[in-house]
Amino acid sequence: MSDIVCSSGVELLMDYLDGVLPPQLRAALDEHVAGCQRCTAFVESYRATPRILRDATAAALPPDLEVSLKAFLRARTNAFRSR
Ligand SMILES: [Zn+2]
Repeated sequence: MSDIVCSSGVELLMDYLDGVLPPQLRAALDEHVAGCQRCTAFVESYRATPRILRDATAAALPPDLEVSLKAFLRARTNAFRSR
């Protein structure tokens, strides 16, 4: 079910690319992006996008996406704790 990152992790990927994620989340995303064409394409296009456009995109994210991202982060953190 790696699609959970694609469907709810856009802002997470932005934080990942900005280098502001906790190390264990970063590692999880590294792993996912390496095996996911969609995320690889997103990462590449993000890196090619001027900062001002990224900010506009981030500001346009709907609040429910933020909620699902927080749920995703919580689930992810719990998964790491239980290992
Ligand atoms: Zn993906």
